[in-house]
Amino acid sequence: MIPDWPSERRHMVERQLRKRGIHDQRVLQAMLVIPREEFIPHDHRVCSYQDEQVQIGYGQSISQPYMTALMAELLELTGSETVLDVGGGSGYHAAVLGQLAARVISIEIIPALARQAGQNLLRTGLGGNVKVVRGDGSQGWPEAAPYAGISVAAAAPDIPEPLLEQMGDPGRLVIPVGSRYDQELRVIAKANGVIRERVVTFCRFVPLRGDNGWQ
Ligand code: SAH
Repeated sequence: MIPDWPSERRHMVERQLRKRGIHDQRVLQAMLVIPREEFIPHDHRVCSYQDEQVQIGYGQSISQPYMTALMAELLELTGSETVLDVGGGSGYHAAVLGQLAARVISIEIIPALARQAGQNLLRTGLGGNVKVVRGDGSQGWPEAAPYAGISVAAAAPDIPEPLLEQMGDPGRLVIPVGSRYDQELRVIAKANGVIRERVVTFCRFVPLRGDNGWQ
């Protein structure tokens, strides 16, 4: 039997997002329309709208929908921004950000995943304002800086200096920081030259690799 994806998607948005406090209408709307199942490998597709991480191959996983929504909401995007998505993975998070900002650069270190993300975005028609690049996102992507929003979907031992440098003013950076196994999700907000930082929640992400990640 073919699953009723739109209905599963509506339930996910209601039960996992709205009920848990995601209130940014643009985020809710983006996740209501984006076919998440198109970003999940065939053998895990039945898990597309479950409240958990799902394997996307190469030892990596797509975050649970709530985490994608929370991180997107924390960026406080209005539609005019350039955003950097570090850890592109399947391309799903980038697709969500693409609905919320003017332009998204999504950087992925594993070449095969970067290719897949590009294909997923193209097939779903959601790649128009999303550029997928292959590289070490722990160094940011200076070519398109400054970024009004930076979202990091892999756990860093510390906040990578280049990401702070590539933040705009105003700008917001959302990143999990901590050990390899447990982290806190931090928001760093820059406004008028002043940087403020706060911890939003505890979380568990796959490790950030690269120069400013885990070796
Ligand atoms: N946001 C993704 C899932 C992220 S999983 C989605 O929606 O599917 C984390 C991803 O970060 C993995 O694909 C991993 O390969 C990538 N990654 C880890 N270190 C990285 C680095 N230094 N630069 C870019 N990508 C990195």
